[in-house]
Amino acid sequence: MVDEEISFPVINSELCKGCKRCITGCPQNAILLSDDMNNAGYQYAYYSGNGCTGCKDCYFTCPEPLALEVHQYKKIVDDTVGRMIRAKVASKGGK
Ligand code: SF4
Ligand code: SF4
Repeated sequence: MVDEEISFPVINSELCKGCKRCITGCPQNAILLSDDMNNAGYQYAYYSGNGCTGCKDCYFTCPEPLALEVHQYKKIVDDTVGRMIRAKVASKGGK
């Protein structure tokens, strides 16, 4: 079994005030500012869809309660076949 971790920020566009702290704070530049505005008249942050490592810097820097969460999942992958293939290749000296 292999653990694969999947992380991504979930931003509530209606609670975001567009302060950009999460954008500045993300070491992966994974959060962007929308051109659109929410119902309160703020441009809001959104996840680009790529690059999140789950560090949670964006979560800790956001001043708006419930505007930003970081979701993390652990996907357990059955890698039995992969291990068998790697073992076979290794036993043949990588050929
Ligand atoms: S958890 Fe870290 S890497 Fe992911 S979006 Fe937030 S600041 Fe960026
Ligand atoms: S830090 Fe929070 S309020 Fe500021 S832009 Fe990011 S999600 Fe919006």
